[in-house]
Amino acid sequence: MKLLVIEDEHKIANSIKKGLEQESFTVDVAYDGEEGYDLATSGNYDVIVLDLMLPIMDGLTICRKLRQDGKHTPILILTARGQLEDKVVGLNSGADDYLVKPFAFAELLARVRALGRRPIQHQSPTLKVADLELNTINFEVHRNGTTIPLSRKEFSLLEYLMRHANTIVTKDQIINSVWDYEADVLPNTVEVYIGYLRNKIDKPYPRGPELIHTVRGFGYKLGVENNVSIGTN
Ligand code: CA
Repeated sequence: MKLLVIEDEHKIANSIKKGLEQESFTVDVAYDGEEGYDLATSGNYDVIVLDLMLPIMDGLTICRKLRQDGKHTPILILTARGQLEDKVVGLNSGADDYLVKPFAFAELLARVRALGRRPIQHQSPTLKVADLELNTINFEVHRNGTTIPLSRKEFSLLEYLMRHANTIVTKDQIINSVWDYEADVLPNTVEVYIGYLRNKIDKPYPRGPELIHTVRGFGYKLGVENNVSIGTN
């Protein structure tokens, strides 16, 4: 999952980013309201964590504008202790949940996970394509009964591909959804990571079906192919 944290207090923003990255999320941070709004409208986020008191554009305005724009990304509002009014207004502006500062990181994580799961059609934390299973709660990946250890980035990439199973995804879509905007993503970075995944989820299972497919000139597709017109390099 990819998250956007809009919070002007660098210490809080950075500790949230660090904590969420340890839980295998990809995290972008904006330190003012305008940058936050721009990223929220242009990026592909699963959840937005939004502080209310922000320079340039306040959190409630961002929230309202995003909903007016037709952006339905789940929003978790961070509010200072005692700003009860803000909570009511926040939820009326289209926010999905709120958390009072100071908060325990575990609480933030639980709320973010709950919000991130909402758009998925089925409530199961497990994504399944053929005999490949990925658990979004305990980060375990299994194929044909064996556990496949993946790095954090490999896991995020596989999760993205599995959420878009049987759909062609471009390298740009992958980069925008799996890497944060500060990352140095070289043109062949996606290819390299696709290669790592192939070596772990396809190569050791020659009886197949092969799951990761290169669609020349377009991108990649994860799924069971019935025709062989698509290249696999
Ligand atoms: Ca603030």
